[in-house]
Amino acid sequence: STPEVLSGYTSVKVLSDKAKIEDGFLISDYIYENATVKRVPGGLYEVTPTKVDYQFKLDMNVPKTGLMMVGLGGNNGSTLTATILANRYGINFRTKQGIQKPNYYGSVTQASTLKLGVDEDGNDVYAPFNEILPMLHPNDIVIGGWDINSANLADAMARSKVLDYDLQRQVAKYMAQIKPLPSIYYPDFIAANQSDRADNLIDGDSKWDHVQRIRQDIQEFKAKNELEKVIVVWTANTERYAEIIPGVNDTAENLLSAIKSSHDEVAPSTIFAVACILDGVPFINGSPQNTFVPGCVDLAEKNKSFIGGDDFKSGQTKIKSVLAQFLVDAGIRPLSIASYNHLGNNDGYNLSAPQQFRSKEISKKSVVDDMIASNHILYNDEKGKTIDHCIVIKYLPAVGDSKVAMDEYYSELMMGGHNTISIHNVCEDSLLASPLIIDLTVIAEFFSRVTYKKADSGDDFEKFYPVLSVLSYWLKAPLARPGCEPVNGLNKQRTALENLLRAFIGLGPQNELKLEERLW
Ligand code: NAD
Repeated sequence: STPEVLSGYTSVKVLSDKAKIEDGFLISDYIYENATVKRVPGGLYEVTPTKVDYQFKLDMNVPKTGLMMVGLGGNNGSTLTATILANRYGINFRTKQGIQKPNYYGSVTQASTLKLGVDEDGNDVYAPFNEILPMLHPNDIVIGGWDINSANLADAMARSKVLDYDLQRQVAKYMAQIKPLPSIYYPDFIAANQSDRADNLIDGDSKWDHVQRIRQDIQEFKAKNELEKVIVVWTANTERYAEIIPGVNDTAENLLSAIKSSHDEVAPSTIFAVACILDGVPFINGSPQNTFVPGCVDLAEKNKSFIGGDDFKSGQTKIKSVLAQFLVDAGIRPLSIASYNHLGNNDGYNLSAPQQFRSKEISKKSVVDDMIASNHILYNDEKGKTIDHCIVIKYLPAVGDSKVAMDEYYSELMMGGHNTISIHNVCEDSLLASPLIIDLTVIAEFFSRVTYKKADSGDDFEKFYPVLSVLSYWLKAPLARPGCEPVNGLNKQRTALENLLRAFIGLGPQNELKLEERLW
């Protein structure tokens, strides 16, 4: 690892009286301007501008951080680990196109830029996303984790058939040294077709012992690698939904008792989440199941421990969260969206079972809800408030990790006309998902260093609310604070992230007013 990265490299110096550095902390003053709107009878909107003065405080020191993946030996786990090693050791490899250098394409934090402002001529100036404020660099992340399958990561990488052979050949010696820790397997939660993989299991049936064992694993990993922080990401198989049962998983207290009595409806992913929450370790769920049952969110709230989910937003849904928003914002009325997928990797094999497919179906369907709700000219009692949204997933071994997604958007135009947009998308699934795991880790780590308070309140600085909805850019079915509606539109999600980063360096929200150009 490179020292300048660990100390948090930035290339942006803000000359503003709104932000100052004190004892290794960046403290910024920010006026949060918004508006409250009241709908009054007669179709009027009454809008009142609001203003709240906040102070943000960011710890500028990037800690030595570990990422523990649940499902480390899967396609995502092995692809991400090999990519980090190739970047860390500068391993170039040959493909039929020539020499390929390692990179982090597909990662917002590593490969995208953010507009800072304009130059003297009024033209936009961009800086790398990860140079605005000190952020964890993926090359420095120490990787570990669990898998119910015992294959070392060199074998897991070969099994997943994602990366070019010449890269596999060169990273194999590093990968072979990484062996997933034994994990928790409750066969009822993932597809029966996964049982052959389950040869690396934590002993015993006590679910509470399982929680304790995971906590111990994290502590040992932290100590062994001299880490200051660990982030845990679930990238294991999609589980079935857990039934929400009053008295079992509805409150923090009930959930803990249910675990202590090894209740059947507590899923492995919830065991991992609870173990992390009890020790303040951020936990992110990259699969669609309802890991965060109400009792789990309640526990995170009580322990002020960060959680984020659900389900990586990598290919088809990412496009949907742009295209559906575009159509609705353009005043065009989507009538139906038909989303068809076939894939041939182990994820597809697991999803070929009905209950696991159902988890994915729910997650994929929810993505347009807030867009429909945003436009009552197009969606109302007279015209209808829903669209026909159909999701199909088929397992087709031949295509391996190259998931094919075909989407048809059928919409109503002016004067009863119709428009059909068809998209054919070959996803290279794990190459799309792995950079998201980097971003989720980097941003979760970053937000765990931010605190805030209301200016002049005399209050202490405190952490953000535990449900990290700023991660929603990377998640298909964003977990939101209870009582709040999730935001699915990709542009809104990115705007929120950009503007929060800007707030921390004392800049107002991003705007495209371009008055330099538009006014005399
Ligand atoms: P994969 O099947 O290749 O890997 C999953 C791994 O998890 C396997 O190695 C399996 O042995 C392991 N596993 C299963 N149960 C476990 C448990 N209880 N503890 C520890 N390990 C366990 O799948 P993948 O392609 O890497 O995808 C991982 C997850 O991410 C899936 O749930 C998938 O739906 C989700 N996801 C993937 C993408 C994408 O790849 N583009 C997008 C969104 C969501």
